[in-house]
Amino acid sequence: MAEAWSGDGVGALSDEEIREAVRRRLKPGLSAATAKIAALHRSRCTVVHLSEHRREEERAVDGPPPKVVLGLKVYDDLDTAQVPAPRSVDDTSTTRLLLRESLRETPCVCGGSGRAQCTTCEGATTVDCPPRLGCKECGGTADACDACDGKGRVRKGRFVPEDAPPEGPASLARVKCAKCRQPGAACPGCRGLGDIPCTRCDATGRAPCPECEGKGSITCARCKGKGSRSTWTEGRVERERVEKVAELPERHAPGRARWTINRHALWSRTVLVEAGDPLPHLLEPGHRPELDRFRTAQRPGAGRTELLRTVRVEQLPLYHVRVAEAPNQEFYVFPSRDGVRVAVAMTTQRAQLITGAAVVAVLLVLAVLLLVVR
Ligand SMILES: [Zn+2]
Ligand SMILES: [Zn+2]
Ligand SMILES: [Zn+2]
Ligand SMILES: [Zn+2]
Ligand SMILES: [Zn+2]
Repeated sequence: MAEAWSGDGVGALSDEEIREAVRRRLKPGLSAATAKIAALHRSRCTVVHLSEHRREEERAVDGPPPKVVLGLKVYDDLDTAQVPAPRSVDDTSTTRLLLRESLRETPCVCGGSGRAQCTTCEGATTVDCPPRLGCKECGGTADACDACDGKGRVRKGRFVPEDAPPEGPASLARVKCAKCRQPGAACPGCRGLGDIPCTRCDATGRAPCPECEGKGSITCARCKGKGSRSTWTEGRVERERVEKVAELPERHAPGRARWTINRHALWSRTVLVEAGDPLPHLLEPGHRPELDRFRTAQRPGAGRTELLRTVRVEQLPLYHVRVAEAPNQEFYVFPSRDGVRVAVAMTTQRAQLITGAAVVAVLLVLAVLLLVVR
């Protein structure tokens, strides 16, 4: 086939370029004049799909409809609704639409105020609070006053402050009793009263409600204070980009050399925009049927509609070279960004020899070990 790519296509290397590149990898003095060159060209096909999926979604928010929803384009039938065409296969933007007459704003049971009566104080703004609290220092017991036991009447012969002067830190020093008037007898915390005025209610018996902070009402739980709820049906046109790649031949060189080629290769590229276009004649003839099958097999998933597709075909001129003077090596020559590049691999026979030698060495070590153990 005259149209077949035989190595003289885009990016192909001449025999002279290949020999020169291999010679630089040989020992000094060796020439690559007798090199046997075989073409091993690679082909790559990348299919990119942009597809869309349409679905309806019931939406709801507290309060009036969001501005962005008011600005949405209205549709009657989501399947036929017109949306902006994608700019490229990379355009994965989502288009939102509003179903005609689906937008509703319903006032809340709170009457639209966003407030509800506080259940703790039932709107009274204050709650009951004890006007006085027990003394923490004496516990409100007989310890409140050494002279009257907190009762207000001195028990005779029981208290002699002159014989028992107060000791310890000043805060623990006994003070004059507010009930029996006896100096140096009473608890400093309550002055013999056994309790102290409540600071929360200022001893009034009513304190601001802790639930509503004295407001009498709280934020309505149903509308979260917004006063209403908006609902609508939204149509969503969602796009997805999927890229699939096929490369031939899959195993083109042994391990390390393959890695070098994959990393540095400079592929030449052709872009086919039209899905029905034939694959370029530049491709290796043997690769074309398989890549053609691969390209036509790529379809968007169930429930999705294809919008755009690009098929990109690339070629990599790759040459397999053997040199008589270096029988243990194989050379893979290909174009890279830094010029002609060579990946070197051991020949299969050489690799097998080395593997064999390693196995023999391990067996010998094992045999010696067995002898020593005995
Ligand atoms: Zn309250
Ligand atoms: Zn109180
Ligand atoms: Zn007292
Ligand atoms: Zn006290
Ligand atoms: Zn409400």
